[in-house]
Amino acid sequence: MFSVRIERLTSSLIRELLALTQQPDVISFAGGLPAREAMPPLDLRELPASLSQYGTTDGEPELRETIARQLTGIGLRVPPERVLITSGSQQGLDLVTKLFIDPDTPVAVEAPSYLAALQAFRFFGARMLELPLTPQGIDPQQLRELIRRERPAFVYLIPTFQNPSGVCYAESHRAGVAEVLRETGVALLEDEPYRELMYEAVDRTPLSGRLGGAPWMYMGSFSKTGIPGLRIGFIAASDDIHPHLVRIKQCTDLHTNRIGQWWCNRFLLDGDYLAHLDRLRAFYREKRDAMQAGLERHLGELATWSQPHGGLFFWVRLRQEVDERALLERALARKVAFMPGGAFYAHPPAFQGQMRLNFSLSTPEQIDRGLRMLGEVIRAYHAE
Ligand code: PMP
Repeated sequence: MFSVRIERLTSSLIRELLALTQQPDVISFAGGLPAREAMPPLDLRELPASLSQYGTTDGEPELRETIARQLTGIGLRVPPERVLITSGSQQGLDLVTKLFIDPDTPVAVEAPSYLAALQAFRFFGARMLELPLTPQGIDPQQLRELIRRERPAFVYLIPTFQNPSGVCYAESHRAGVAEVLRETGVALLEDEPYRELMYEAVDRTPLSGRLGGAPWMYMGSFSKTGIPGLRIGFIAASDDIHPHLVRIKQCTDLHTNRIGQWWCNRFLLDGDYLAHLDRLRAFYREKRDAMQAGLERHLGELATWSQPHGGLFFWVRLRQEVDERALLERALARKVAFMPGGAFYAHPPAFQGQMRLNFSLSTPEQIDRGLRMLGEVIRAYHAE
């Protein structure tokens, strides 16, 4: 009855296990949701009645203009005409997938990478080529060799406060990767939903702005700074790509909801926007610090990690291998949850024993208690 491609969307055991983390007495480091308390109020009192009508596929002109101005300000020069408003940046991933991927199309991804992007690419049959992520980003020389060997349709990167690893590319790697893409002309898909969740000042220059004539797509989102339930994101792209994305979006959903777009534009133009970002950063920085302290206290001899300068995650590598799923089951029995690292790879990684820990939803006290339990679970596992 169904398409061939639906076979590729397998349900995972991990997803079933993680359903258990929704119970109220579980301390969950497994999810990735922003904190409800950190979100700005949803004030729709002045919403114009005209927004009840259908809108345009590209999105509301005012919001596109605001976004284009902000992007130009951070080093990505783009006119409003090439900004497409999407239903979250997740829809950007869907549109790009439909534009580029046929069965067996090679796509280069970071290892590890964003789970739902890997699923979207896999859904359409992509052949995923992994580039190992280092604390400075992917290695430009490895990218060059991979392109020479396989010529991927595009390279998918999350250079700033990556999900799941927390890595922020060093300036040297931003420049190196941009140079390879500029020289080879392979398209870049740059995904930046965590950009504004920055706790220490680091270089965040978009790669897309440094590619010369090479094709690029740059996605942003208001899910982490604004209100994720409104589902507003955007994809800006070079002029050879943008019109195709608009046509695909038209047959996907005609246009993104106008109420959310109106709210986002007001939010960005509001005089309080920068103060809101400052509050948000202080709010998450405290949790990030609590997780760093808890990890040192309870997992110091068991694991290695680096403290992220932004985003919502720690990436923890155990010193000894474990069966990640078995460990998760035991952690859940103690009412603490993490996300098994293997889930974030396109192909099973050589080393089993990594986890992604989210700190946005727990209080500093819960973070400490949860990490203490996790430390105990890992010690008991190794002792067997
Ligand atoms: N890209 C990455 C790397 C993400 O982590 C997420 C959400 N967590 C998204 C895209 C999608 O976000 P949204 O659709 O809410 O904008």
